[in-house]
Amino acid sequence: MATLKHYTWLIVLGVLAIWSSTQIAFWPESIQDILVFLPYISVALGIFIALWLNRIQPVLILLSLGFFNAILLYFSSSAFGLDLTEGTLFPVLSVLLPLNILLWIMLPEKGVLNKRLNTLVFLVFLVQAALFYYLLEGVPEEWLMLLRIPVVESFNVILLSFSAGIMFLLALLFIVLKMKKSSFKNLYHAAFVVLILMLVGVSQGFDVNTLAWFSMFSAIILTLSMVFEAHHIAYTDELTGILGRRALMEHFLGLGKKYVVAMIDIDHFKRFNDDYGHDVGDEVLRRVARVLDDVKGGSTFRYGGEEFTIVFANKTINEVLPELEYIRRKVESGEIEFRTGLKSIKTNVTVSMGVAQSDKDCNTVQDVLKLADKGLYEAKQAGRNQVVVRDYFLSSSKINHYKGLKSGE
Ligand code: GH3
Ligand code: MG
Ligand code: MG
Repeated sequence: MATLKHYTWLIVLGVLAIWSSTQIAFWPESIQDILVFLPYISVALGIFIALWLNRIQPVLILLSLGFFNAILLYFSSSAFGLDLTEGTLFPVLSVLLPLNILLWIMLPEKGVLNKRLNTLVFLVFLVQAALFYYLLEGVPEEWLMLLRIPVVESFNVILLSFSAGIMFLLALLFIVLKMKKSSFKNLYHAAFVVLILMLVGVSQGFDVNTLAWFSMFSAIILTLSMVFEAHHIAYTDELTGILGRRALMEHFLGLGKKYVVAMIDIDHFKRFNDDYGHDVGDEVLRRVARVLDDVKGGSTFRYGGEEFTIVFANKTINEVLPELEYIRRKVESGEIEFRTGLKSIKTNVTVSMGVAQSDKDCNTVQDVLKLADKGLYEAKQAGRNQVVVRDYFLSSSKINHYKGLKSGE
């Protein structure tokens, strides 16, 4: 679900950028005049957010986009002549932009204050500045001819040079590789779309407006990816990868009048830690979280420690009980195998659950949660590995214990 959402906004923005770029020529001149300034606003905003979030990779990609536009714009003014910009700077920059993005993606994310990394980055920019100086002084024409060799000869729609095409392709390939290895993929997905957009822009030849338009979209995409990633980090539990306590509290706010809350606690979990170590304990937590997260009709959260909460919106206890019982059994029957030293150990784990629903006497989330917690306590008291339904008026002696209930019963 989350991934689908993530791909959707990227694709929508990417398509919107490409479609709208075909309309630029029809826009009023007053709008066309300000187009070249738009990338700086979005790049500056993006850099501010990246610095705030302590992320050096997006800072550098955004800087590269900013420089790309600034240099083209500065030299395209009449004082320098279009030849220099179109014939010399543009072919060179079309290679340098993907090369820079590739470099920044290759760097490890070490935050914005890492001295060694920042020195290296400074040197890379310095080398490129020196290259530029050399270019302006006059570079052998044969070299430029090489850079300008087009991918498609005498074809006016795609004006991509071979060298730029190769560099874009390399950068795209590298990002795909990097995506596979990394657990935080948002930035890489965004950088992929950015490369595609800039490739489309560069393929249309030297046109500051179009390039500025694509750069603006690129900066927006990079910025959004950082914001979404920060949101994801804040709401996801790091160990298990499922939603965390903060997400649960927010989920509660959006609940209607009718809902069911189940509190779930792993049985004798301390033993796993004591007998096999914390790492095995962590792995058990992950496995249980995965099973619970597969629940149908509800949302699962890690409440804290080895406790989880499942919330079923618009449901009654009778509707969800078979599912909870099914989940309890699924946890129970899942075999856990791991090695400690030379020994291979096979074991299993069980969970206890307390369930409560909202009604007119128990209508705040806190009350329902408390009631479910009572049910959980009673499930533990009664021998664990069972589901206990807790009704507001029910005394402890009349609790329904569910164990061995078949799904659908
Ligand atoms: P009960 O059946 O009564 O629930 O027994 P229990 O051992 O599961 O309950 P208890 O509350 O005594 O122990 C919970 C343990 O969970 C204690 C703590 O060390 C462990 N724990 C909490 N969070 C984590 C975690 O993130 N990783 C690991 N490995 N252990 C954790
Ligand atoms: Mg506990
Ligand atoms: Mg426990």
